[in-house]
Amino acid sequence: MENLTQCIKLKGIGASPGIVIGHCQLHDPGHIKLPYYYIFSLEGIEFEQDRFIQAVDVVERHIKDVISEIPDEILHHSDMFHAQLAMLKDKMLFEKTLEAIALDGINAEWALEDVFAKIKRSFLQIKDPFFRERLKDVEYVVKLIFDVLTDAATMDFAAKKDAAFILVAHDLTPVDTVRLRPDKVLAVVTDMGSRTSHTAILARSIGIPAVVGLEAVSELVNDDTLLVVDGLTGDVFINPDEGLIRRYVEKQDCYISHSARVATDSHLPACTRDGFTLEIKANIEMVDELPSLLINGAEGVGLLRTEVMYVAKKELPTEDELFVSYKVMLQRIAPLPITIRTLDIGGDKLASSVNFGAEINPALGLRAVRFCLKEQGLFQAQLRAILKASAFGDVRLMIPMISGKGEIMAVKIILDEVKEDLLKQGIAFNHDMKLGIMIEVPSAVMIADVLAKEVDFFSIGTNDLIQYALAIDRGNEFVAHLYDPFHPAIVRMLKRIVQAGHDAGIPVSMCGEMAGEPLYVPFLVGLGLDELSMTPTVIPRIKRIIRTLDKTQCGSLSEAIINASCIRETYELLEDFLAKYLPEDRELIQSLCKIS
Ligand code: PEP
Ligand code: MG
Repeated sequence: MENLTQCIKLKGIGASPGIVIGHCQLHDPGHIKLPYYYIFSLEGIEFEQDRFIQAVDVVERHIKDVISEIPDEILHHSDMFHAQLAMLKDKMLFEKTLEAIALDGINAEWALEDVFAKIKRSFLQIKDPFFRERLKDVEYVVKLIFDVLTDAATMDFAAKKDAAFILVAHDLTPVDTVRLRPDKVLAVVTDMGSRTSHTAILARSIGIPAVVGLEAVSELVNDDTLLVVDGLTGDVFINPDEGLIRRYVEKQDCYISHSARVATDSHLPACTRDGFTLEIKANIEMVDELPSLLINGAEGVGLLRTEVMYVAKKELPTEDELFVSYKVMLQRIAPLPITIRTLDIGGDKLASSVNFGAEINPALGLRAVRFCLKEQGLFQAQLRAILKASAFGDVRLMIPMISGKGEIMAVKIILDEVKEDLLKQGIAFNHDMKLGIMIEVPSAVMIADVLAKEVDFFSIGTNDLIQYALAIDRGNEFVAHLYDPFHPAIVRMLKRIVQAGHDAGIPVSMCGEMAGEPLYVPFLVGLGLDELSMTPTVIPRIKRIIRTLDKTQCGSLSEAIINASCIRETYELLEDFLAKYLPEDRELIQSLCKIS
């Protein structure tokens, strides 16, 4: 770890909004040095076996304690801990380690390490990524047993300090994450993770600002290093100088007071001064986020990411579990609509929890609809659950990562089969459920006119579209500076998508992060998007900005931006626009988005 005093800026993924300036606490479970020794007596073997059994007992008690501490609102996350409990006493781990101690005459740590290596090898041969993912549970319980055997420090970081701190970690385990307490932890900053990683999801639901996917932040700080964390933009500054701190204190004040101000009129529609209304919806991942959605004035769910139920559990969710969860959500926000996106697994989605081993380039691999078309049983179960839920409210079905017409046709065939089965079984569903696709692959942009004839709506996923169009890994901090939605290629693609959708008479929404960034709103309004979907907490702010805009003026701005030849020109156009039409909000919009 270097001892740095100069200010360093890192770019990560803003996973949970808020601005925090404070000292950090490094959560480093450390690399334990394992002892290796042979045992030559029967008593010695019994002693080692006993040591192992006792260590397993300690870990078992620890996991049970963790389960009992989980707050009610996130109790559904307890499944993974039950899976870990089962793993502890599993024959392949528990008995095999006892056997190895006796047969090989080696100490408990050595035996456990050998057994784990074998388990790992067999897991990595499993083709099904979901089952391969279970390796994470085994790895975790093995680490806990090593901790007890070697007497390593426990991970109870919440008790470490009196003053609240910014938690910095390479990655957080599920146990660490559910132990986060807002009174102790000001913000979370991690090397690993994406917006859909466990850390990000939990941080959002308990309202702790977070930046994830910073690659190496944990190697650049020491305990008590001063940090600025911007959960809105994903920026993290190590050793900020006074000037930067002053600017961020202002941004923080501005953010807090603006949040309070906009919250008061969050339920008003997002209607421009000249009478053009956009629907504003929320991107959510789980039922816990529904209260935030309602408080912030969302007009429905524009993107329900459905991956959580597949990654937070030991087994795949059953059709019934999926159905119940969708139905509960629908009933909780009725009569508001929910757009359910089918499973989008792979790529960065499991980056911190699954080794997608065989795939050298997972972002271009077996992801999302490609995965579902391969694992058709799993896909059918989810489609059945969504269709069944459609009898209880306004459900729309959305397919991610469509790259060509063939994929939509394949999805439609499966969907029709599922509908036919439900009909035969006399199970109710909405026969006219809308089917839409995400436009997030450049090939889909180029044939948007063809695709528009096949579906009822488009939703633009700018997170992936920018990644694929500009060849920039969305989680890679080394190329993050190139990741700009105002790249001329991107703005032209956006225009093309909206045009193709509207020519075919279907609505076009945007659910990528770009939709929730104040800076882009005038351009998006000008483009004529029908709907924007975003993290619930940013909705009041975006609605308020839209209410101050004039659609015609935004239209001229958008035209000019589409004709711009470089990003700098675009920012100059925007700067002029804000100065001319929104002098009061200009500083606020800029301060919320760009500061350094
Ligand atoms: C996107 O790609 O813009 C999107 C909304 O989907 P995700 O971030 O879940 O890939
Ligand atoms: Mg996407």
